[in-house]
Amino acid sequence: MDSYTIDTKCVQGGYTPENGEPRQIPIIQSTTFKYSTSEEMGKLFDLEKSGYFYTRLQNPTNDMVAAKICELEGGSAAMLTSSGQAANFFAVFNIASCGDHVVACSTIYGGTYNLFHVTMKKMGIDFTFVDPDCTEEELNAAFRPETKAVFGETIANPALTVLDIEKFAKAAHAHGVPLIVDNTFATPVNCRPFEWGADIVTHSTTKYMDGHGAGVGGCIVDSGKFDWLAHADKFPGLTTPDDSYHGVTYAEKFGLGGAFITKCTAQLMRDFGSIQSPQNAFILNLGLESLHVRMPRHCENGLAVAKFLKDHPKIRFVTYPSLEGDKYYKTAMKYLPNGSCGVVSFGFNGGRSAAEEFMKNLRLAAIETHVADARTCCLHPASATHRQMNDKELEAAGITSDLVRMSCGLENSADLIADISQALDKI
Ligand SMILES: *Cc1c(COP(=O)(O)O)cnc(C)c1O
Repeated sequence: MDSYTIDTKCVQGGYTPENGEPRQIPIIQSTTFKYSTSEEMGKLFDLEKSGYFYTRLQNPTNDMVAAKICELEGGSAAMLTSSGQAANFFAVFNIASCGDHVVACSTIYGGTYNLFHVTMKKMGIDFTFVDPDCTEEELNAAFRPETKAVFGETIANPALTVLDIEKFAKAAHAHGVPLIVDNTFATPVNCRPFEWGADIVTHSTTKYMDGHGAGVGGCIVDSGKFDWLAHADKFPGLTTPDDSYHGVTYAEKFGLGGAFITKCTAQLMRDFGSIQSPQNAFILNLGLESLHVRMPRHCENGLAVAKFLKDHPKIRFVTYPSLEGDKYYKTAMKYLPNGSCGVVSFGFNGGRSAAEEFMKNLRLAAIETHVADARTCCLHPASATHRQMNDKELEAAGITSDLVRMSCGLENSADLIADISQALDKI
C-alpha cells in the first residue's frame, strides 16, 4: 500500500483478501485460538513465533485495523487499545517507570493531564508541563537526567494550540528521548507527525477516526525510527532481557521497527488488558474508510463557522487555527496546510450568561461532551466539564467562563450558520 495516496490507504489499507476470502474485514469474535500441540502454542508464549492465543493481548480483527492506521501514519508497527486514555497511558508507561520523568505540553487534553498529573504521579513518574510556545531554551531547561519522553498534541483539545513538532522533536532528540504526539484532532489525513520528526503517535480513535460517535477506542503507532539501542541505558525495558518472556531483549529480537509495539503488547496489554473489542475495531474500520472524505468537510464547516463568528458583533473572540489572524495560523499553515479540524472555540461580549443563553437556543447543535462526530455538538466547559472551577481557576486553565467549544459535523455549513445566527439573535 506504500505507493498509494492516503485516500486509497483509508479505503483499502490494512487488509488485502486472498482468493475467495471476505471482502470486508472479518470480525474474529473469539477469546481464544486453537493449537494442535502444546509445543506450537509454547512458541507463541516464548515470542518465537507470531500468532494469536488470547484476545486480551491480541486479536486478528484489531491487528488489521491497526495495520491500516499504521499505513496512514507511515509507521512501522501499531496496536489498538480500548480508549485514547489507554493509548496515552501505554505509550508513556512502556518507556517510563517509577523514578522517571516526562516533559509534556501544558495545553494537552484534560483527561490526559489528569492521567499524567494525578494518576501516573502516584506511580512515581514526574511530569513537567511546558507552554507550547516556549523558547528552545525554556524547553531544554525542562529536561532532567531521568527524562524518558516528550509528549504533546498536534492540535490540543480544546485549547486548539498547534504543536511546533519540529521544535519539540529537536529538543527530545537532543536529550536522547522520543517525542510522542497525540494526533487525534488532526488525524493522519491532515498531519503525519512522523514526517516532522515525531517518534510515536497516539490516537483517541473515538473521535474523527470512528467519526460517528459509535465506539470508544485508541491506537499507538511507532515510527520505528527511534534508536533505543543508541540510548540503551535510558530504556532498559527495551534493551535488556525481559524475564517474563524468557530473557528476550525487545530491541534486539524485534529491531527498531517492532520493539516498542511488541513490548507494549506482550507486557502492558497482557497485564492491563485494555484491548479494544473486535466489534468496535470493525466499526472503527468503517469510519476509517471515509476519513479522507469526511475530514475536508469537517474543516470546511469549521472554517465557515469561524469566519461567520469572527465578524459577529456579539462575539468577543474566535479561536480556530486555520482562520487568518489566529495566534496559530502560521504554525497551522506549516503543519496543517490542508485544514486543521472541525472544532472552533469562541466567547461572547455578554460573558458567561450570554454563553449559557446561546447554548439553550441552539437547535441543530446538540449539547454533548463529545467532539469530532458527524453531528455538530457543542459544550460550555464552565457549566459542564470544568464546573468545579471558579472564574479565576478557569482563566488559569485557558478556559474563560464565556467560552463555548463547537465541534462542526458533516452537515451543510449554511444550516449550521443559520442555527448559530438564530441562537445569537436571542441573546
Ligand atoms: C478524547 C481524547 C483523548 C482520550 O480519548 P478517549 O478515547 O476518550 O479515552 C485523548 N487525547 C485527545 C486529544 C482527545 O481528544
